[in-house]
Amino acid sequence: MPHILTMVGASLPGGSESVAAEIVGAFGLSPVSGRILSPDRAVELTLDGDPQDGDGDARAIARTLREALPEIDVAVLPESGRRKRVLLADMDATMVVGETIDELAAALGKEAEVSAITERAMRGELDFEAALDERVAMLGGLATTEIDRLAAALTYSPGAETLVRTMAAHGARCVLVSGGFDRVTGVVRERLGFHADRANHLEVGAQDRLTGTARKPIIDASAKVTTLRETALAAGVALDACLAIGDGANDRPMVEAAGLGIAYRAKPVLRDAATAHIDHTDLRTALYFQGYTDAEMTGGSAQARS
Ligand SMILES: [Mg+2]
Repeated sequence: MPHILTMVGASLPGGSESVAAEIVGAFGLSPVSGRILSPDRAVELTLDGDPQDGDGDARAIARTLREALPEIDVAVLPESGRRKRVLLADMDATMVVGETIDELAAALGKEAEVSAITERAMRGELDFEAALDERVAMLGGLATTEIDRLAAALTYSPGAETLVRTMAAHGARCVLVSGGFDRVTGVVRERLGFHADRANHLEVGAQDRLTGTARKPIIDASAKVTTLRETALAAGVALDACLAIGDGANDRPMVEAAGLGIAYRAKPVLRDAATAHIDHTDLRTALYFQGYTDAEMTGGSAQARS
Protein backbone atom coordinates (compact mmCIF):
# COMPACT_ATOMS: atom_id res chain seq x y z
CA MET A 1 0.00 0.00 0.00
CA PRO A 2 1.42 3.43 -0.92
CA HIS A 3 2.62 5.51 2.00
CA ILE A 4 2.53 9.26 2.53
CA LEU A 5 5.32 11.18 4.17
CA THR A 6 4.27 14.38 5.95
CA MET A 7 6.72 17.05 7.12
CA VAL A 8 5.67 19.94 9.36
CA GLY A 9 7.78 22.77 10.74
CA ALA A 10 7.35 26.22 12.25
CA SER A 11 8.79 26.98 8.83
CA LEU A 12 10.08 24.15 6.64
CA PRO A 13 13.78 24.54 5.81
CA GLY A 14 14.53 25.05 2.09
CA GLY A 15 15.46 21.76 0.43
CA SER A 16 13.42 19.64 2.88
CA GLU A 17 11.80 17.79 -0.01
CA SER A 18 15.10 16.81 -1.60
CA VAL A 19 16.45 15.63 1.75
CA ALA A 20 13.29 13.50 2.10
CA ALA A 21 13.64 12.16 -1.46
CA GLU A 22 17.22 11.10 -0.77
CA ILE A 23 16.28 9.33 2.47
CA VAL A 24 13.30 7.43 1.04
CA GLY A 25 15.54 6.54 -1.92
CA ALA A 26 17.82 4.67 0.47
CA PHE A 27 14.77 2.54 1.35
CA GLY A 28 14.06 1.80 -2.33
CA LEU A 29 11.20 4.33 -2.63
CA SER A 30 10.71 7.62 -4.39
CA PRO A 31 8.21 10.47 -4.10
CA VAL A 32 5.73 10.43 -7.00
CA SER A 33 3.78 13.55 -6.06
CA GLY A 34 3.71 16.32 -3.52
CA ARG A 35 1.01 18.50 -1.97
CA ILE A 36 1.21 21.64 0.14
CA LEU A 37 -0.97 21.40 3.26
CA SER A 38 0.11 24.75 4.70
CA PRO A 39 2.34 27.21 2.80
CA ASP A 40 5.92 27.06 4.11
CA ARG A 41 4.83 24.88 7.05
CA ALA A 42 3.43 21.53 6.00
CA VAL A 43 3.89 19.35 2.95
CA GLU A 44 3.13 15.74 2.06
CA LEU A 45 4.86 13.45 -0.41
CA THR A 46 3.19 10.35 -1.83
CA LEU A 47 5.71 7.52 -2.07
CA ASP A 48 5.61 4.90 -4.79
CA GLY A 49 4.94 1.37 -3.63
CA ASP A 50 5.31 -0.31 -0.29
CA PRO A 51 8.12 0.11 2.17
CA GLN A 52 9.72 -3.38 2.03
CA ASP A 53 9.43 -3.96 5.75
CA GLY A 54 6.06 -2.11 6.06
CA ASP A 55 5.73 -0.42 9.42
CA GLY A 56 9.35 -0.99 10.39
CA ASP A 57 10.65 0.84 7.31
CA ALA A 58 8.06 3.60 7.69
CA ARG A 59 9.32 4.27 11.21
CA ALA A 60 12.95 4.05 10.13
CA ILE A 61 12.34 6.60 7.35
CA ALA A 62 10.68 8.98 9.83
CA ARG A 63 13.53 8.51 12.31
CA THR A 64 16.24 9.12 9.70
CA LEU A 65 14.46 12.21 8.44
CA ARG A 66 14.09 13.60 11.97
CA GLU A 67 17.83 13.16 12.44
CA ALA A 68 18.55 14.97 9.15
CA LEU A 69 16.06 17.80 9.82
CA PRO A 70 15.89 18.07 13.62
CA GLU A 71 13.45 21.02 13.70
CA ILE A 72 10.58 19.31 11.94
CA ASP A 73 7.87 16.77 12.81
CA VAL A 74 7.52 13.80 10.46
CA ALA A 75 5.06 10.97 9.90
CA VAL A 76 5.12 8.14 7.35
CA LEU A 77 1.69 6.52 7.19
CA PRO A 78 -0.27 4.26 4.84
CA GLU A 79 -2.30 6.27 2.35
CA SER A 80 -5.58 4.50 2.94
CA GLY A 81 -7.50 5.20 6.13
CA ARG A 82 -5.39 8.21 6.99
CA ARG A 83 -8.37 10.26 8.20
CA LYS A 84 -9.44 8.92 11.58
CA ARG A 85 -13.04 8.53 12.76
CA VAL A 86 -12.34 8.64 16.50
CA LEU A 87 -10.12 10.94 18.56
CA LEU A 88 -9.10 9.97 22.09
CA ALA A 89 -7.08 12.72 23.75
CA ASP A 90 -5.33 13.03 27.06
CA MET A 91 -5.84 16.36 28.88
CA ASP A 92 -2.90 17.36 31.10
CA ALA A 93 0.24 18.38 29.19
CA THR A 94 -1.57 17.40 25.95
CA MET A 95 -4.75 19.45 25.41
CA VAL A 96 -3.83 21.88 28.21
CA VAL A 97 -0.45 23.18 29.28
CA GLY A 98 0.84 21.70 32.54
CA GLU A 99 -0.58 19.27 35.08
CA THR A 100 -3.79 20.48 36.74
CA ILE A 101 -3.22 18.38 39.88
CA ASP A 102 0.03 20.29 40.49
CA GLU A 103 -1.78 23.60 40.10
CA LEU A 104 -4.49 22.50 42.54
CA ALA A 105 -1.77 21.58 45.03
CA ALA A 106 -0.27 25.04 44.57
CA ALA A 107 -3.49 26.52 46.00
CA LEU A 108 -2.61 24.67 49.23
CA GLY A 109 1.10 25.47 49.10
CA LYS A 110 1.93 21.82 48.31
CA GLU A 111 3.00 22.10 44.67
CA ALA A 112 6.57 20.90 45.15
CA GLU A 113 5.56 17.68 46.94
CA VAL A 114 2.76 16.89 44.51
CA SER A 115 4.57 17.75 41.28
CA ALA A 116 7.53 15.54 42.21
CA ILE A 117 5.13 12.58 42.40
CA THR A 118 3.29 13.60 39.20
CA GLU A 119 6.55 13.75 37.25
CA ARG A 120 7.57 10.25 38.37
CA ALA A 121 4.08 8.85 37.70
CA MET A 122 4.04 10.29 34.16
CA ARG A 123 7.46 8.75 33.52
CA GLY A 124 5.99 5.38 34.50
CA GLU A 125 8.17 5.01 37.60
CA LEU A 126 5.27 4.70 40.08
CA ASP A 127 2.06 2.71 40.29
CA PHE A 128 -0.49 5.16 38.85
CA GLU A 129 -3.31 4.47 41.32
CA ALA A 130 -1.10 4.62 44.42
CA ALA A 131 0.49 7.83 43.15
CA LEU A 132 -2.94 9.34 42.46
CA ASP A 133 -4.29 8.37 45.89
CA GLU A 134 -1.25 9.87 47.58
CA ARG A 135 -1.61 13.20 45.77
CA VAL A 136 -5.41 13.36 46.12
CA ALA A 137 -4.99 12.87 49.89
CA MET A 138 -2.78 15.97 49.89
CA LEU A 139 -5.65 17.92 48.27
CA GLY A 140 -7.95 17.20 51.22
CA GLY A 141 -9.64 20.37 52.46
CA LEU A 142 -9.34 22.24 49.16
CA ALA A 143 -12.49 24.24 48.31
CA THR A 144 -14.22 23.14 45.09
CA THR A 145 -14.37 26.81 44.07
CA GLU A 146 -10.57 26.63 43.72
CA ILE A 147 -10.96 23.82 41.17
CA ASP A 148 -13.55 25.82 39.25
CA ARG A 149 -11.32 28.89 39.30
CA LEU A 150 -8.41 26.87 37.95
CA ALA A 151 -10.55 25.21 35.26
CA ALA A 152 -11.71 28.62 34.03
CA ALA A 153 -8.13 29.90 33.77
CA LEU A 154 -6.43 26.94 32.02
CA THR A 155 -3.91 27.55 29.28
CA TYR A 156 -4.78 25.47 26.23
CA SER A 157 -2.13 23.93 24.02
CA PRO A 158 -1.80 25.73 20.67
CA GLY A 159 -3.91 24.00 18.04
CA ALA A 160 -5.96 21.99 20.56
CA GLU A 161 -9.31 23.51 19.64
CA THR A 162 -8.56 23.30 15.91
CA LEU A 163 -7.69 19.59 16.22
CA VAL A 164 -10.90 18.73 18.03
CA ARG A 165 -13.29 20.97 16.10
CA THR A 166 -11.88 19.98 12.70
CA MET A 167 -12.11 16.26 13.39
CA ALA A 168 -15.61 16.71 14.84
CA ALA A 169 -16.66 18.74 11.77
CA HIS A 170 -15.48 15.84 9.59
CA GLY A 171 -17.58 13.32 11.52
CA ALA A 172 -15.11 11.98 14.06
CA ARG A 173 -16.22 11.11 17.59
CA CYS A 174 -13.97 13.09 19.97
CA VAL A 175 -13.46 11.98 23.57
CA LEU A 176 -11.31 13.56 26.26
CA VAL A 177 -9.92 10.92 28.62
CA SER A 178 -7.91 11.90 31.66
CA GLY A 179 -6.37 10.61 34.85
CA GLY A 180 -7.19 14.11 36.12
CA PHE A 181 -10.55 15.27 37.44
CA ASP A 182 -14.03 15.47 35.94
CA ARG A 183 -14.67 18.92 37.39
CA VAL A 184 -11.91 20.14 35.06
CA THR A 185 -12.48 17.87 32.04
CA GLY A 186 -16.11 19.02 31.83
CA VAL A 187 -14.92 22.58 31.26
CA VAL A 188 -12.23 21.53 28.77
CA ARG A 189 -14.72 19.32 26.87
CA GLU A 190 -17.04 22.27 26.27
CA ARG A 191 -14.31 24.77 25.52
CA LEU A 192 -12.59 22.57 22.91
CA GLY A 193 -15.66 20.85 21.45
CA PHE A 194 -15.23 17.26 22.61
CA HIS A 195 -18.36 15.09 22.49
CA ALA A 196 -17.62 13.43 25.83
CA ASP A 197 -15.13 13.30 28.66
CA ARG A 198 -14.03 10.66 31.13
CA ALA A 199 -11.93 11.39 34.23
CA ASN A 200 -11.61 10.77 37.95
CA HIS A 201 -14.14 12.07 40.45
CA LEU A 202 -12.94 13.74 43.62
CA GLU A 203 -15.21 13.14 46.60
CA VAL A 204 -16.59 16.32 48.15
CA GLY A 205 -17.45 16.63 51.84
CA ALA A 206 -18.62 19.30 54.24
CA GLN A 207 -18.54 22.96 53.18
CA ASP A 208 -17.82 21.93 49.57
CA ARG A 209 -14.28 20.90 50.39
CA LEU A 210 -12.43 17.86 49.01
CA THR A 211 -12.33 14.84 51.28
CA GLY A 212 -8.96 13.77 49.90
CA THR A 213 -10.26 10.64 48.15
CA ALA A 214 -11.03 9.78 44.54
CA ARG A 215 -13.95 7.56 43.54
CA LYS A 216 -12.99 3.98 42.58
CA PRO A 217 -12.34 2.49 40.13
CA ILE A 218 -10.02 5.22 38.95
CA ILE A 219 -9.24 6.19 35.36
CA ASP A 220 -5.78 4.79 34.75
CA ALA A 221 -3.92 3.49 31.69
CA SER A 222 -6.19 0.46 31.29
CA ALA A 223 -9.37 2.54 31.70
CA LYS A 224 -8.06 4.82 28.94
CA VAL A 225 -7.56 1.97 26.49
CA THR A 226 -10.95 0.54 27.49
CA THR A 227 -12.50 3.92 26.69
CA LEU A 228 -10.79 3.81 23.29
CA ARG A 229 -12.18 0.33 22.55
CA GLU A 230 -15.70 1.28 23.72
CA THR A 231 -15.68 4.49 21.68
CA ALA A 232 -14.52 2.66 18.54
CA LEU A 233 -17.17 -0.02 19.03
CA ALA A 234 -19.95 2.55 19.54
CA ALA A 235 -18.77 4.45 16.45
CA GLY A 236 -18.72 1.19 14.47
CA VAL A 237 -15.08 1.53 13.44
CA ALA A 238 -11.93 -0.56 13.93
CA LEU A 239 -9.07 0.56 16.18
CA ASP A 240 -7.17 1.25 12.96
CA ALA A 241 -9.55 4.15 12.33
CA CYS A 242 -8.75 5.77 15.69
CA LEU A 243 -6.29 8.46 16.70
CA ALA A 244 -5.04 8.52 20.30
CA ILE A 245 -2.76 11.28 21.53
CA GLY A 246 -1.01 11.81 24.85
CA ASP A 247 2.25 12.60 26.60
CA GLY A 248 2.64 10.27 29.59
CA ALA A 249 3.13 6.68 30.70
CA ASN A 250 -0.61 6.21 31.36
CA ASP A 251 -1.33 7.01 27.69
CA ARG A 252 0.90 4.23 26.42
CA PRO A 253 -1.70 1.42 26.03
CA MET A 254 -4.20 3.63 24.16
CA VAL A 255 -1.49 5.15 21.96
CA GLU A 256 -0.23 1.65 21.16
CA ALA A 257 -3.71 0.30 20.40
CA ALA A 258 -4.86 3.12 18.09
CA GLY A 259 -4.18 3.00 14.34
CA LEU A 260 -2.55 6.42 14.69
CA GLY A 261 -0.90 6.87 18.09
CA ILE A 262 0.76 10.23 18.58
CA ALA A 263 3.27 11.11 21.31
CA TYR A 264 2.93 14.86 21.99
CA ARG A 265 6.05 16.40 23.58
CA ALA A 266 6.07 13.08 25.36
CA LYS A 267 7.92 11.33 28.14
CA PRO A 268 10.49 8.77 26.87
CA VAL A 269 8.31 5.84 28.03
CA LEU A 270 5.62 6.80 25.50
CA ARG A 271 7.82 7.67 22.53
CA ASP A 272 8.61 4.19 21.21
CA ALA A 273 4.97 3.10 21.51
CA ALA A 274 3.80 5.83 19.15
CA THR A 275 3.26 5.79 15.38
CA ALA A 276 4.28 9.45 15.15
CA HIS A 277 5.61 12.27 17.31
CA ILE A 278 4.89 15.97 17.68
CA ASP A 279 7.88 17.68 19.28
CA HIS A 280 8.38 21.01 17.51
CA THR A 281 5.01 22.15 16.21
CA ASP A 282 1.49 22.52 17.59
CA LEU A 283 -1.48 20.14 17.73
CA ARG A 284 -2.63 21.06 14.19
CA THR A 285 0.15 18.73 13.09
CA ALA A 286 -2.09 15.81 14.09
CA LEU A 287 -4.40 17.10 11.31
CA TYR A 288 -1.61 17.50 8.74
CA PHE A 289 -0.57 13.90 9.46
CA GLN A 290 -4.11 12.93 8.37
CA GLY A 291 -3.87 14.99 5.18
CA TYR A 292 -5.97 17.99 6.24
CA THR A 293 -5.04 21.34 4.67
CA ASP A 294 -5.31 24.73 6.41
CA ALA A 295 -8.42 25.47 4.33
CA GLU A 296 -10.19 22.43 5.83
CA MET A 297 -9.52 23.43 9.44
CA THR A 298 -12.02 25.02 11.79
CA GLY A 299 -11.67 26.33 15.34
CA GLY A 300 -10.34 29.25 17.34
CA SER A 301 -6.63 28.95 16.75
CA ALA A 302 -6.79 27.66 13.19
CA GLN A 303 -4.91 30.69 11.90
CA ALA A 304 -2.51 30.96 14.83
CA ARG A 305 1.18 30.61 14.09
CA SER A 306 3.05 28.00 16.06
MG1 LIG B 1 -0.86 13.99 30.21
